[in-house]
Amino acid sequence: MKSGIKENKPSFFEKLIRLIYPVKCMVCDTILSEDAALYICDPCKKSLPRYKGKIVKNMSLPYLDGIFAAFYYQDGIETAIHNMKFKNHPKLAKTIGILLCEELIKQETLPDIDYIVPIPMHPKKKRQRGYNQSELLARQAAQFLQKEVRTDILIKTKNTKSQSLLKREERLINLESAFEVNDDIAINNTYKKSILLVDDVLTTGTTINTCAKILKEDGFSFVYALVTAIAEK
Ligand SMILES: [Zn+2]
Repeated sequence: MKSGIKENKPSFFEKLIRLIYPVKCMVCDTILSEDAALYICDPCKKSLPRYKGKIVKNMSLPYLDGIFAAFYYQDGIETAIHNMKFKNHPKLAKTIGILLCEELIKQETLPDIDYIVPIPMHPKKKRQRGYNQSELLARQAAQFLQKEVRTDILIKTKNTKSQSLLKREERLINLESAFEVNDDIAINNTYKKSILLVDDVLTTGTTINTCAKILKEDGFSFVYALVTAIAEK
């Protein structure tokens, strides 16, 4: 599989803006130079809580053929992901996405995939937030893996309650009816096609496993997961 990371240096105009509004490290708030490609300083980058895992199969998430996580969901990366999601900082997705890909590149072999699919957000929620952070991360991964991002394959049809408020059985029922594979899309023969699902954080994994189940029921052969951080239970 061909791959490459482009850090995209800031444009001249972006640098001018940065002279007035300096960019800061997303972890420690240190002011960075105006040509910094990533919103993280070198010491913070070095000390990120790397998961150092391989692409593995997790028996409790049976519909996924392999999961890769770059970091533990703690310390600076937890703050950065939280700010990306809830504090209206979609710009951080580029830095977080590149950090994720830099860890992924360390894998000796990567599975062959056809499409990159972000975990969808309900359109109403996306309108409120203005963006789906998983989609932004997926776009970064797509550049790296040189594959197409498809936001039309898997759709969220129900604006679900926060999963953390529900019991396990309720969670599954809540989720299974919330996602759908879009029947209107033209994919020639889903049989043998493989998908890489992208999400920001894996906690119980119920959401991503449910999405994989739905995709497999619709004929996709392999479903892998790429997540920035894994929350230890
Ligand atoms: Zn820092």
